[in-house]
Amino acid sequence: MTRRIVIIGGVAGGMSAATRLRRLDLEAEITVVERSGYVSYANCGLPYYVGGVISEESALLLQTPESLHARFRLDVRTATEATSIDRDRHIVSVRDLATGVDSELPYDALILSPGASPVVPPLPGIERAHTMRTVEDVQAITEAMKADSPRRSVIIGGGFIGLEAAENLRHRGLEVTIVEAAPQVMAPLDPELAAVVQKEILGNGVDLRLGVSLSAISDAGVELSDGSVLPSDLTLLAIGVKPDTRLAQMAGLDLGERGGIATNEFNQTSDPLIYAVGDVVEKTDAVFGDEILIPLANIANRQGRIVADHIMGREIRPSGSLGTAIVKIFDLTVALTGWNEKRLAAADRACVVLHSHPGSHAGYYPGAQTMHLKLIMSPEGAILGAQGVGREGVDKRIDVIATAMHGGISARELADLELAYAPPFGSAKDPVNMLGYMAENVLSGMTPTVQWHEVDKAAANGAFLLDVRDPAEFVRGSLAGSVNIPVDHIRERLAELPVDRRIIVNCAVGQRGHTATVLLNALGFDAANLDGGYTTYAAALLS
Ligand code: FAD
Repeated sequence: MTRRIVIIGGVAGGMSAATRLRRLDLEAEITVVERSGYVSYANCGLPYYVGGVISEESALLLQTPESLHARFRLDVRTATEATSIDRDRHIVSVRDLATGVDSELPYDALILSPGASPVVPPLPGIERAHTMRTVEDVQAITEAMKADSPRRSVIIGGGFIGLEAAENLRHRGLEVTIVEAAPQVMAPLDPELAAVVQKEILGNGVDLRLGVSLSAISDAGVELSDGSVLPSDLTLLAIGVKPDTRLAQMAGLDLGERGGIATNEFNQTSDPLIYAVGDVVEKTDAVFGDEILIPLANIANRQGRIVADHIMGREIRPSGSLGTAIVKIFDLTVALTGWNEKRLAAADRACVVLHSHPGSHAGYYPGAQTMHLKLIMSPEGAILGAQGVGREGVDKRIDVIATAMHGGISARELADLELAYAPPFGSAKDPVNMLGYMAENVLSGMTPTVQWHEVDKAAANGAFLLDVRDPAEFVRGSLAGSVNIPVDHIRERLAELPVDRRIIVNCAVGQRGHTATVLLNALGFDAANLDGGYTTYAAALLS
């Protein structure tokens, strides 16, 4: 019997499902309905089209209904909206948006991949702001840029899309202000890494307003909660997305606690004939098993394939989601996977944290760039998450750690990974291996550490701050009240160190500090190393 499969949403998740289904079943009737005028478009490329980095709109349009029919014999209907689902009759009602004609599509299996919609708060004048979700959205933005020749733009929201938009509007030569209600940009990062990103943003001439929110948009400009008004010729709203569950709710499908469609490990909804994938569904967190919302393309594509396989009776390997993500912010790469420390603290989950600042490749080979890496572990040494910010080499380190997490490799075992090395690409002890060594040292108790946010309080409570860098480094900036004894001179200058106070040791990045801490503790002092050294402290508190 020919199977009839209807897919709602023709971009990441929906189109992955459709093409996989065809490869598995030559006969199935596969119909894809897509509300917008385009299918299979590269929404991740939209900011770069606005910036002119991608100059041709056609580059974003990966397929057309015609090309999909030619290669896969898919019935793809753009400008067609699914308006309701009749679960008893197994019918989807659809409307041709060009003609207004309604029709019905019967299904044996239905796949929902309607994505998420931008959050648009009900504030005065909000309709003056653009969102950036679809090809039509960026067409509206680029038309406004042609028609009005905007000079000043305000972006509401300092997340992935807001920051990509900021870079691209700067690329177009606009003055850009980012307004972010939280005290930092890039919520998935912890503040000490977000501080590095903020420095980069400011260094590229973007005005950053943190801790203020949008109140209204009027002729005067963008009005903020602190009373200020920012003149704006082009306002973008990028404060997040919410799952587009309207159809699912009307059809009586179960939603989860986070507001996404609830599914099982095969992406079946509460109606087993109806599957849901992508931004619209809740995912299972790979670390703790919680239900979470993660609007990312990789997951949508993967789930589309899983659903196709399940419909065709193939074996599935269910797996949770880590939320591994990456973004380019001017010349910085920002990447992360798993949980951050803030979220763990809010959930009252214990963790141990490591910061490192390795070079992207061997220091003696030209062009090495320092990066900021953070590894977050459980007290037992399971990897809970990682973050990286830098100009080079961050992507592969975070991807290796994400792979390790998927494979259940512990933080200590990162030391055992054999990673490709030659001087232009890495180090014989790769930064990921180094995190493994550090994990072993810290988890075994060999090197007690303190974190950047604990130092000032410890010093106020009587801790002695010992800086073991060279004097030339010390004079360029140091912890207030610290005493400089370079690591190589500690043995001769022990008399200068207190035996009855805790000693917090710092160097530039934590490596010499580790050596000094181990030495001092072996000699009977009570020493702890400042994790990540002065570099982490300064990035977090002095930038
Ligand atoms: P979508 O790809 O959004 O597709 C849903 C489609 O369903 C839409 O086209 C919509 O028109 C259609 N639809 C909705 N309701 C109906 C209906 N009733 N009838 C018919 N059609 C309907 N992710 C990354 O991992 N990396 C990135 O760099 C990245 N950059 C991004 C940049 C931007 C500007 C945006 C907007 C998103 C970005 N994402 C990125 C997120 C990524 O695009 C999404 O996670 C992914 O597209 C989700 O796939 P989906 O199939 O769930 O939804």
